[in-house]
Amino acid sequence: MYYEPFFIVLVGPSGVGKTTVVREILKLHGDIKYSISATTRTPRKDEVHGRDYYFLDISTFKDWIKEDRLYEWAIVYGDYYGTPRESVDEFLKEGYDVIFDLDIQGGSSVKSKRGNTITVFLLPPSREELRRRLLRRGDKEDIIVKRIKEVEREMDAAFRFDYIIRNGVLEETIKKVEAIIVAERQRSKRIRLSSQDPYGRV
Ligand code: 5GP
Repeated sequence: MYYEPFFIVLVGPSGVGKTTVVREILKLHGDIKYSISATTRTPRKDEVHGRDYYFLDISTFKDWIKEDRLYEWAIVYGDYYGTPRESVDEFLKEGYDVIFDLDIQGGSSVKSKRGNTITVFLLPPSREELRRRLLRRGDKEDIIVKRIKEVEREMDAAFRFDYIIRNGVLEETIKKVEAIIVAERQRSKRIRLSSQDPYGRV
């Protein structure tokens, strides 16, 4: 027996801490791979091309859209973001679960395109904390004001997703995400029989 690998999509407003949660989950689980997005946004300090994002110019990004190289794409705060198809398909083939860090449109889109997807909506702990996080990572004041407004508009969307976690204490959030992953791996609908190895890795 083995389980069919799945997509775990962390969705939620920008600045809620999805990236940090993803990093921690990846440290703990070698059997989960990260879907590295493509974007036209300028890299922040410490961001590395090919690790955090594929940083593309607009014309290359548009070529990728035309060539159908993106699983989904969206314009977020004026920049293009998208999920390259090739790497996520490869990860699934190799038996890895794949974790995504997406905005709300991207989360809905991946969920509708692939049934075997679990979506987790992360809520910010408070407006003040959200502002602090955006400041800490170096976003500019006008961007912060725009993003906080957008966050409050996006909160209703939480109910479209499978799970909702308020991202207050990081360790607690990690435990909750892990609990979801562990339980989802055991769901009978994901378990497949294998004649060579009847007990397998389930
Ligand atoms: P940031 O600029 O803060 O890295 O990301 C801005 C927003 O875009 C975040 O909410 C992030 O989750 C989202 N995002 C990152 N990659 C993708 C992607 O490939 N597709 C979509 N739809 N959103 C993405």
